[in-house]
Amino acid sequence: MTRKSAGNIVILTGAGISADSGIQTFRGSDGLWCGHRVEDVATPEAFRANPALVQDFYNRRRRQLLEPSIQPNAAHIALAELEKNWRGDITIVTQNIDDLHDRAGNKNLIHMHGELLSVFCNKCETRFHCREDVTTDHVCANCQETGTVRPDIVWFGEMPYRMDEIYEALSYCDLFIAIGTSGHVYPAAGFVAHAGLNGAKTVEINIEESQVASVFDEHISGRAAETVPEYVKQLLTYPDI
Ligand code: NAD
Repeated sequence: MTRKSAGNIVILTGAGISADSGIQTFRGSDGLWCGHRVEDVATPEAFRANPALVQDFYNRRRRQLLEPSIQPNAAHIALAELEKNWRGDITIVTQNIDDLHDRAGNKNLIHMHGELLSVFCNKCETRFHCREDVTTDHVCANCQETGTVRPDIVWFGEMPYRMDEIYEALSYCDLFIAIGTSGHVYPAAGFVAHAGLNGAKTVEINIEESQVASVFDEHISGRAAETVPEYVKQLLTYPDI
């Protein structure tokens, strides 16, 4: 059983932690995600209405993620070091669909909004690792159905993954840290309140205040690639949280 006195930490990450690796965040200043309205590419309705557009959007995101220039940055690497060297549990809950935490080496990692390098079949529900483009005439390698394989992404209106595990970790953490997330997207934006009500200290790391900034105990302002390694160093030097 997890114990509160163990010094457990939950870290929620958002698009901002990967911005320093060259991946565009969710809402640009124009309110669009890589030139598209969210309703057109990130809902089940959009996929039903125009599967070619949605597959193409995620194909482009996947191709970009696999470019050699896209690598974990100092923030991802510092969080992997923290997991290796911390006395309690470190749980990373990421809203990101990239694999930069995985590549940095974090093991106790929850991809609550799915993963770009995964697809699944709507018919037989088999998941496949995927590094290639997927088209509307793609044939499921398991059930042989055509056009049923979709990105393994939790779209707006769908239930995020592993919520029971996330709330369990939030209930037993002593420190909750949110890095590079705007606080627009629920349920993730509500995690700080849940952790705080259960007695955790709460810290936000961002280049600007998020929508839920007032709920946090502490704010650290700056780019993730600079502030996170410094914060992790402090935690490992003075581990009494
Ligand atoms: P968001 O785009 O709404 O917010 C990004 C946040 O990061 C903002 O608060 C911004 O101030 C902050 N930020 C930007 N650059 C930063 C930096 N260098 N250092 C620290 N903070 C920085 O992103 P969100 O809150 O994660 O939105 C959620 C949705 O976006 C998720 O559902 C996710 O699936 C999707 N998304 C994921 C990726 C990815 O996988 N890398 C990229 C874009 C969108």
